[in-house]
Amino acid sequence: MTKPFSLTTLLRDNIKRLVPYSSARDEFNGEASVLLDANENAFGSPYSRNYNRYPDPKQHRVKNRLHQIKGVPAENIFLGNGSDEAIDILYRAFCEPGVDNVILVPPTYGMYEVSANINNVQCKKVPLTPDYQLNLDGIAEAIDARTKMIFICSPNNPTGNSINRQDIETILVNFDGIVVIDEAYINYAKQLSFTKDLAEFSNLVVLQTLSKAWGLAGLRLGIAFASTDIIAVFNKIKPPYNINQATQDIVLEALERVDVVNEWIKETVFEREKLISALIDIQQVHHVTPSEANFVLVKLNAPSELYAYLVDRGIIVRDRSKVELCAGCLRLTVGMPDENKIILNAIHSFYKESN
Ligand SMILES: *Cc1c(COP(=O)(O)O)cnc(C)c1O
Repeated sequence: MTKPFSLTTLLRDNIKRLVPYSSARDEFNGEASVLLDANENAFGSPYSRNYNRYPDPKQHRVKNRLHQIKGVPAENIFLGNGSDEAIDILYRAFCEPGVDNVILVPPTYGMYEVSANINNVQCKKVPLTPDYQLNLDGIAEAIDARTKMIFICSPNNPTGNSINRQDIETILVNFDGIVVIDEAYINYAKQLSFTKDLAEFSNLVVLQTLSKAWGLAGLRLGIAFASTDIIAVFNKIKPPYNINQATQDIVLEALERVDVVNEWIKETVFEREKLISALIDIQQVHHVTPSEANFVLVKLNAPSELYAYLVDRGIIVRDRSKVELCAGCLRLTVGMPDENKIILNAIHSFYKESN
């Protein structure tokens, strides 16, 4: 399966031929005092802050700040309306509908499959091993001439564990398609980000997001890190103004507060470990998967009944008990200390009452 990676071979023909839309702000973005090129309303906005001008299509200021924080050059960064936009663009760039396929390794994040279905792309599923690691032999067998991408989520959602680095490197070296590593939860993990390896692997796309550790899910900002050639493909396909001005403004302010976010991460990891030890002490809990994320996957007695019991008390968790390799499991997000106490008390009461 070892063939050299070639971006032009991998791209769909219509994308190779595509002439992208050229917006007013693409053609001119220097300093000017009279802007009469974009049919905007020069009076302003009916709001305290002005939003009458179209935003920077390439989000230079946000990318420069992310460069400082993440150590990745701005030209290797794409910003999307959530990671979901980056995932969708990957399918539209590389996968010919009804012809090409991708490899998914369930149990994992659901959007990879939904986005494949929307784009009419076949998913070849190679389940993780029982300890939630990659089945490398199974993946090698599943890859065929029409396999364009492999999605790996690490730390993985919903299991919480990191995928072995060596196994991911084996795939990066041997697969001639795109390897997407979704690091939505990397801030909570001990393992290093693959953003450090972009120079080494031209087929690598790393996804991150401001929706989790950064606490900005409501603003919708997803990040893709990749080679400049792959970033150019993203930029060609994306809607010209995909990141709105309010998001760019607020994110720039928020990115000044790395210290606060790092403190939250430390507290979350501390609370996660406390939650895990408290859960393990419950007799009806069979297993808690070691987590490198801000949630834990717990295998326990009567998961669906417990789920309903919690809902009745206004406590919402994720029932994953019907998911492959997650039989009997609920996924609990690590909350504030008092919330974690509330859910532990409720789980104790449930098992006491059902005895
Ligand atoms: C939450 C999550 C995301 C974030 O998606 P956004 O669209 O950026 O909010 C991405 N991947 C995984 C695995 C997630 O769990």
